[in-house]
Amino acid sequence: MSRVQQLCGLLVALVVGLGLAYAGWSVSASSRAEVCQACGRTVHADMRAVASVGGHRGVFCCAACALSQAAQLNKKIGFASVADYQTGKTLHPADAFVVEGSGVVPCVRQHEMLNRDGLAVPMAFDRCSPSILAFATRTAAERFAGQHGGEVGTFDELIAQRLTPAVPHRITPPSPSSLYTRNSSSR
Ligand SMILES: [Zn+2]
Repeated sequence: MSRVQQLCGLLVALVVGLGLAYAGWSVSASSRAEVCQACGRTVHADMRAVASVGGHRGVFCCAACALSQAAQLNKKIGFASVADYQTGKTLHPADAFVVEGSGVVPCVRQHEMLNRDGLAVPMAFDRCSPSILAFATRTAAERFAGQHGGEVGTFDELIAQRLTPAVPHRITPPSPSSLYTRNSSSR
C-alpha cells in the first residue's frame, strides 16, 4: 500500500468516525433529561431556576440549590428566571413570590427516610432544603403556605435576605505583632 493510499484510508476512517460520533451525540442530547448543573438531580419544570453563579449561567433543579451553590463557592448569584410551582411557567424573579421552608421539598422527596411509624425523618442537610417554591401571585403563595406552612415573601426579598445573612460575630485572633507589642510594653 502506498503512503497516499494509507493516508486516504485514514482520512475516510476519521470522517466516518466523526459522523457516527455526531449522530450518537445528537440522539443522546435530544433524549437526555435536563439535569441540575450543581447537584445532578433531574430538573423539573415546576422548580426550574436559571441563575449565574460567579458569572457562569446554568440551570438548577431549584432556587434553593442555586443559592447553596453560591454559598458553597462563595460566589455572587443573579437569577435570570424561576418557575411557577403551580404551572411550570417561567417567571421573572422580580415578579415572583415565594414560599420558603414549607413541608413540601420536591427535590428530596425521592430520598425521604421514614421512621418506624412511617413518618418522615427530618434531613439534617440537603442543598435543596429548606425549599423555595415560586408563585406568580402573592395570593397563590399565601394559599400554599396556608396548606403546607412556610414563609411568604417576594423573591427579591428572599434573595436580599440570603445574601446578607446574620453572620455570627467573628473572633479575630490577635496578630503576632500585636502580641509582641503588648509583651514588650509590659516589660
Ligand atoms: Zn440542584
